[in-house]
Amino acid sequence: MRNIYKCVVCGTFTEDSTHCGKPAKLVINGELRNRLSHLMTYLLRHNPGAVGLSMDREGWVGINKLVNAIRTRWNPGAYSWLTTEHVLAVALMDPKGRFEVRDGMIRARYGHNKSLNVDIRYDVDNEVSVLYHGTTKEALTRIMREGIKPMNRKYVHLVLDLRDAYEVALRHGSDVVILKVNADCLRKSGQQVLIATDRVRLTSYVPPQCIESVINPRD
Ligand SMILES: [Zn+2]
Repeated sequence: MRNIYKCVVCGTFTEDSTHCGKPAKLVINGELRNRLSHLMTYLLRHNPGAVGLSMDREGWVGINKLVNAIRTRWNPGAYSWLTTEHVLAVALMDPKGRFEVRDGMIRARYGHNKSLNVDIRYDVDNEVSVLYHGTTKEALTRIMREGIKPMNRKYVHLVLDLRDAYEVALRHGSDVVILKVNADCLRKSGQQVLIATDRVRLTSYVPPQCIESVINPRD
């Protein structure tokens, strides 16, 4: 990931080393940003208890509480440098909109583990018609038989952009395929299409008949 800077004039976080015509202040370098982003995602989606945190029903955690918990309880010493500004920079600059910040609180916008019982109210998308889901070739036979299930997550993740689907798939293996999903078919079979971010949609289940085609990224 790229470095994050803060403009010394207007205070905006930016990936550019100059802003408003002046050199901007480095907040976090790309390598630490990547590491912190993964840790925040893990804690806020899957395991807040790993640093002794609990979240409310809608997934919110106090930002200061999160910062203190990571500093003191996650691999002690590794994050002794961490401040609220680092966490805010990573959250607000996330390219996928994984995090949401409001009134001193932070949460993951989507991707929660089912066992956390987080219940976020999302807007319904009645417009979109084509969605994509990246997966491995290995999982394909089961998916074509049983559909796409959320597994340990609360929802199935679908994306608007083919490249995003490809990127997600590559996190699960190197031999990957992209499934093209018919969103109207989902609605007709009783599944809501929910808006997680401008790029991500959620649904509780994709039946096999709503998978329109299988795209091999090598083609
Ligand atoms: Zn500026």
